[in-house]
Amino acid sequence: MSHRTSARYTALIRARLEEERDRLLAEAEQLSHRASSCEQIASGERETHPADAASERAEREIDVARRGSLETRVSDVEAALSKLEAGQYGQCEDCGRPIPVARLRALPWARRCIDCESRRAVHQPPELGAIHAQDRGFHRLSA
Ligand SMILES: [Zn+2]
Repeated sequence: MSHRTSARYTALIRARLEEERDRLLAEAEQLSHRASSCEQIASGERETHPADAASERAEREIDVARRGSLETRVSDVEAALSKLEAGQYGQCEDCGRPIPVARLRALPWARRCIDCESRRAVHQPPELGAIHAQDRGFHRLSA
């Protein structure tokens, strides 16, 4: 990548990342407002029908999960912004190789290349790990 295009590219990526960060923070803000109204229900400060309370509790569980993934995303976006400042944007955090542009276009805050990401996915969410294990078993059988 030439120096000239790189400055323009950096500005574009930064704008896209900052926009995403603002959007995520606004969403997190909304979720925390909802969470505090749920706490009022839980502590009996607000009169509600039991069924409403139950569905709000279910929603709250979804919100908690959503908030967790929002926080992860915000930290990914912030990491991407600081890598951009450091001139290391688009570099895989695990293997150090450049992340393909197509991946960055779809996921500007990607921390890792697809290879490293899928290696991690095997160890992280159990359901994904199970699928990968089945895949490997299948390939062994068919090989
Ligand atoms: Zn990698």
